[in-house]
Amino acid sequence: MMRAVTGAAGTLLLAAQVGAVQTTASAEIDSRSLARDVSVLAADSMAGRATGTAGNAAARAYILARFADAGLRPLASGYEAPFPIRGGEEGEPTRGVNVVGQVRGSAMPERWIVVTAHYDHLGVSNGQTFNGADDNASGVAGLLALAEWAVRNPPRHSILFVAFDAEERGLVGARAFVASPPVPRSSMAINVNLDMIGRNDAGELYVAGTAHYPTLAPLVDSITATAPVRLLRGHDRPGSQPGDDWTSASDHAPFHQVGIPFLYFGVEDHADYHRPTDDAERIQPDFHARAVETLRRAIEALDEQGGTDASASGGTDASASGGTDASASGGTDASANGRASASGGNGRKRKRGNGRKRTGSEEVLRYHKWMVCAAPY
Ligand SMILES: [Zn+2]
Repeated sequence: MMRAVTGAAGTLLLAAQVGAVQTTASAEIDSRSLARDVSVLAADSMAGRATGTAGNAAARAYILARFADAGLRPLASGYEAPFPIRGGEEGEPTRGVNVVGQVRGSAMPERWIVVTAHYDHLGVSNGQTFNGADDNASGVAGLLALAEWAVRNPPRHSILFVAFDAEERGLVGARAFVASPPVPRSSMAINVNLDMIGRNDAGELYVAGTAHYPTLAPLVDSITATAPVRLLRGHDRPGSQPGDDWTSASDHAPFHQVGIPFLYFGVEDHADYHRPTDDAERIQPDFHARAVETLRRAIEALDEQGGTDASASGGTDASASGGTDASASGGTDASANGRASASGGNGRKRKRGNGRKRTGSEEVLRYHKWMVCAAPY
């Protein structure tokens, strides 16, 4: 996660909603497996998973093996999708590697839900290891659990599961993926991005994206009503204080920049954000499992409610080619190209939402068509 550092005066403009918090754990999500994945990825042996390091490669090897064990299909070129990193200083990595797997849809295999979580983090700085348990071993563990669930319960749409590299260097892996996608961008219905979903003392998980794509709001609200966490819409209002608007803060941004809808799930910052203390012991396993179950329900709803799309066409099998969309651009969002510093976060606090609920009629329009309207060009 790359959230701009701000002062404490940020104003939170959002639609906060109080969900009915359930007390039952998920039958679909294996919380022990989640905890194991976090403990492996955030272990000292992974040395903070900085792009281009041995620890990063070890994390990638683990994810790759988990993809295979889950039964995800690779691309024709395999699970690994390397990309160049340009413009770095001497000694910095010139290459990153995304990890991509797929589940083919039963009804509309040519329409893709793209589920993403970055696996890189800040590495070692000044002798201190930044293990990044919440940022973002928690999201990768969630991605792996969702992949296992999707293989067991074949979706109607196809799903790409992507573990991105080089997020902390400026969303580089996600930009490369969107610029040269394995399936046509016009066939990507939505990006669901997981980044920092492992802990929150208030039991709150934010979902950003509906301010940009209000047609998704009813679907999100349908999840909120029974979600096993307090699911709050927000952190996506343009014009908010820097740091409060997370639109450009993680790997969903390159998708949004080309008009592909996104839903980003993550928690508000905590004291260990971008600090060496973001360790596995500070993950809250029960909250983490509830967050992933919430994600599972969201993806299930997207898969079902997007299913009115009878006109979808143009997609191709991700295994067929490496994909080179001629219209793709690399993305040049100046707001997201800053290098994350290992000592960057200052543990700032944000004001909480005011509970205002947006009920504008524009939000209920056309949501059932989102799968059709996703194509940006
Ligand atoms: Zn981060």
